[in-house]
Amino acid sequence: MVPTIPYGRQNISEADIQSVVDVLRSDYLTQGPAVPAFENAVAAYCGAAHGVAVNSATSALHIACLALGLGAGDWLWTSPITFVASANCGLYCGAQVDFVDIDPRTYNLCTQALAAKLAHAEKTGRLPKVVVAVHLCGQPCDMAAIHALSQTYGFKIIEDASHAIGGRYQQEAIGNCRFSDITVFSFHPVKIITTAEGGMAVTNDAELAHAMSLLRSHGITRDEAHMTHASDGPWYYQQIGLGFNYRMTELQAALGLSQMQRLDAFVAQRHGLAKRYDMLLADLPLVTPWQHPDSYSGLHLYVVRLRLDLIHKTHREVFEGLRSLGIGVNVHYIPVHTQPHFARMGFTATDFPQAQHYYAEAISLPMFQDLTHTQQDRIVAALRQELSA
Ligand SMILES: *Cc1c(COP(=O)(O)O)cnc(C)c1O
Repeated sequence: MVPTIPYGRQNISEADIQSVVDVLRSDYLTQGPAVPAFENAVAAYCGAAHGVAVNSATSALHIACLALGLGAGDWLWTSPITFVASANCGLYCGAQVDFVDIDPRTYNLCTQALAAKLAHAEKTGRLPKVVVAVHLCGQPCDMAAIHALSQTYGFKIIEDASHAIGGRYQQEAIGNCRFSDITVFSFHPVKIITTAEGGMAVTNDAELAHAMSLLRSHGITRDEAHMTHASDGPWYYQQIGLGFNYRMTELQAALGLSQMQRLDAFVAQRHGLAKRYDMLLADLPLVTPWQHPDSYSGLHLYVVRLRLDLIHKTHREVFEGLRSLGIGVNVHYIPVHTQPHFARMGFTATDFPQAQHYYAEAISLPMFQDLTHTQQDRIVAALRQELSA
């Protein structure tokens, strides 16, 4: 049997391996020079002033919410079509979570739905403190519109750019935080660049960066300027707040730094593959990804929607058919509000009709930098077979 083509896979070069081995032979496996070097490289790439590297994007979202002051009695809003972490970060802080339906073309949070929900929330005194804008598949949200609404209604913005490093919005790098307070990246192996596990929060605000760097490491400082009194001596540190151990290791940072050198090439390869999918799939009963003209997507995912009105199979039958042919398709995502943990808060599947509709039709095709044209042809042939039978 032919091996399954995964939906995502890391690209590891000899230079990546050597950079990790070099760290293993060095003095520092953690809290050495590689983490700040990686932070500087990512921040410089994005055009952000500060980077705070952590052990996952989930941790980055958590400390971003805390740094923005999210807590009990507050609301965090996000898209229902995302990984659960985009919403869980609000729950970690004791806040309540609500969702805004998606745009039927981009599958990102719909700014008209956001505007309407904000106008209503203002009347009921339930305005959000934080909105997490998720750049689904790597395509940026309508950040200018979300930012304009934040000026009217006074909420903070976190960009969940876990899918989007290397992408651009209005010709500028995602992560420059022109329209947000903090942007978060994930370096999980299926994402665009990897550190195995890992994440980073970038921001232009020095106070937010400082708050997040304390939160990542127990709330401990060694900087006398931040202590309540003069240092007791060279051994001294103070815990000035409650933080966590969310630190990234030197091994991870060295891998990330090495991967950064190929980021633009990775995204360009993904664009080449997406163009080829667009062309090869054009005559099939599918909706291929629509790209807003303001967007240069990171293209973490390539999602097609089945035209169920034109085919004689269910979503599940097509999905299972593709899997049985060795195509590692996936679904991104199960609407978060339908997860039992969220449904228990009172959400029902029909609360966000566009999200529900999307979930009933979406399939993520394999998309990763080393996907070959031969593999891609196999995927397209399998899809053609499944959709015609
Ligand atoms: C992967 C992902 C996360 C979480 O990333 P980790 O680094 O695995 O914690 C958060 N949000 C989105 C949209 C993701 O895809």
